[in-house]
Amino acid sequence: MRYLILSDIHSNLLALEAVLEDAPSGLPVWCLGDIVGYGPYPNECIQRVCGLEAACVVGNHDWAAMGKLDVRDFNLDAQRSVLWTQRQLTPASLEYLEHLPLRLIEGAFTLVHGSPREPIWEYILYPPTARANFEHLSTDHCLVGHTHVPVAFRLVEDGQAVETEHLVEGTPLSLGRGRLICNPGSVGQPRDGDPRASYAILDLEEATLECHRVTYDVATVQERMERFGLPQRNVTRLSYGW
Ligand code: ZN
Repeated sequence: MRYLILSDIHSNLLALEAVLEDAPSGLPVWCLGDIVGYGPYPNECIQRVCGLEAACVVGNHDWAAMGKLDVRDFNLDAQRSVLWTQRQLTPASLEYLEHLPLRLIEGAFTLVHGSPREPIWEYILYPPTARANFEHLSTDHCLVGHTHVPVAFRLVEDGQAVETEHLVEGTPLSLGRGRLICNPGSVGQPRDGDPRASYAILDLEEATLECHRVTYDVATVQERMERFGLPQRNVTRLSYGW
């Protein structure tokens, strides 16, 4: 069985469509939150994810768009994006977001946006944070988003050390050795210096997770963001992936 793993779409419909075109069709989809925020296609992205019947958890930007978070917890550019997104969302989009859970368990995998310990807010960027979070997992493995950086943290055999493995296209990660916390990177706003949309394929028979990158029409997304007056910094970063 194979699964398509998506995270941090961030209202970037053209990146999402490019990923769906690139990935094998018909795979079940697991989505790790932040469908909206930053980008110019919030309702379209929600409709698309809904149509895929994805198993999806909620992210901090989804919560903010629903008015469940104080916007002052975000930086000024993110605040402007949140307020713009709130004005765009249709009742059907809001209803979809409101039904997203904080965490899902799918076989040997826990799905959360930030971390198992703190699903909305915590960023797992470094091994010590990953190590602490293994104690909050009831499954062997965990899939997270939130940092927009494709990476895996592996709890090695003795349970004491955590190894960092960068997820690069063409080099599948083996699931066979120790427990893992994996991040597929961001579909709609990558932050690892590569502006291409990022996603992963989980293959349970091969016991691998492989990251894939795909180009999309960044300029059209940027033009639409500018037309709606979305923050320039968030327009620019799509060109560079920071
Ligand atoms: Zn995000």
